[in-house]
Amino acid sequence: MHDQEKDIIRYFEQMDRSYFIDENKELASLDQALSIGYGQTISQPTLVLKMTLELDLFPESRVLEVGTGSGFQTALLAAFSESVYTVERIGALHERAKERLKEAEFTNIHFKHGDGNLGWKENAPFDRIMVTAAAPDIPEQLLGQLKNGGKMIIPIGNPHSQDLTLIEKGETGEITSTFIMPVVFVGLVGGED
Ligand code: SAH
Repeated sequence: MHDQEKDIIRYFEQMDRSYFIDENKELASLDQALSIGYGQTISQPTLVLKMTLELDLFPESRVLEVGTGSGFQTALLAAFSESVYTVERIGALHERAKERLKEAEFTNIHFKHGDGNLGWKENAPFDRIMVTAAAPDIPEQLLGQLKNGGKMIIPIGNPHSQDLTLIEKGETGEITSTFIMPVVFVGLVGGED
């Protein structure tokens, strides 16, 4: 195991998930998905960890996250990369996550309220992209905003079940796609509320 993997696991183990949710705080320590309101859920912690490890972060990585939600995954990404650009379509979740992560004194997270299908053009390209909502296929705009040599983790499938997929863009732009495991995420919706 790389040293960085150990560091990520150690950091993850001391994270307090109850900080990131406003209801059912007493369930935060269980390894299960929980409601964060607005019909959205925070994934089970072991899946958040797995996705983070698969993304293969490095200290200089600039990361795009689609689906800020509670900000739990955002915090883990931000602790191990240079900067995180996170996009959330539900205004209230965007505001709440921003408040929490500022209070937790993260200074390398940039928040946007909008449609993550479009990525964040002004700050592209990204070394890493993490999508935490289910897409029918890889959004073209996101692929376009991934650097050569970059990696993206995304659940691809229908609303009931998806393949967690690792997309790698080679040095000459060729795309390879690797199945990781079956997952169930809430849907990636078009537009913003
Ligand atoms: N990573 C989050 C899990 C969020 S659930 C966490 O750790 O809590 C998925 C999130 O994706 C929801 O907050 C949902 O509102 C958001 N989402 C869905 N479609 C989106 C889109 N097109 N653009 C941005 N965010 C989107």
